[in-house]
Amino acid sequence: MLLMGEPLPIELMNTVWADRDGIHDALTDEFGAWVAAIGARAGVLELPAAASGASRSAKRLRTLRDAMRRLAAEQTSDPRDIAVDGTALSWAVATVNEAAAAAPAWTELEWPARRVTRTRAVSFAALEGLLAAQMIDLLTGEQRDDLRACLAPGCVLYFVKPRNRREWCSTGCGNRARAARHYQRHRSPA
Ligand SMILES: [Zn+2]
Repeated sequence: MLLMGEPLPIELMNTVWADRDGIHDALTDEFGAWVAAIGARAGVLELPAAASGASRSAKRLRTLRDAMRRLAAEQTSDPRDIAVDGTALSWAVATVNEAAAAAPAWTELEWPARRVTRTRAVSFAALEGLLAAQMIDLLTGEQRDDLRACLAPGCVLYFVKPRNRREWCSTGCGNRARAARHYQRHRSPA
């Protein structure tokens, strides 16, 4: 399981990840652990991840994830093969909106001044709604221009680029990208 300290919608998008063995799906392989980790970070507790209905929940979350990846691909003009999956942009927008509408949330003030998000939705729908709402914030807020597809060889992840820093999702990808460029230069003399 790969958690990179990115905003939650990006953590969801990055449940699709790749290594030398190919492409993996953390929502298929480690659904319960992923939901528990993200639920805790989101402040959504008591998630019945491991209980019955987990496979249906996993399917819903995978659908939301695929819709978000479609939107991120559009926003970042993602040139990677994996970004072109043939799903319609309108489907992705509708899917995110549906998840957001299923768990209406509001903001409350706690004192000392702290912003908390409340919802009447329970458990899993609350998590989906929160992820969808944060994705909408991400695509419409200040961070929208910092959303990036990692273009290191073989990487399928997204990340938010800190201002003036970092072209890659991780130092590992940075090293691989530099090695690939080095190889290119020395293989094809000008
Ligand atoms: Zn990467």
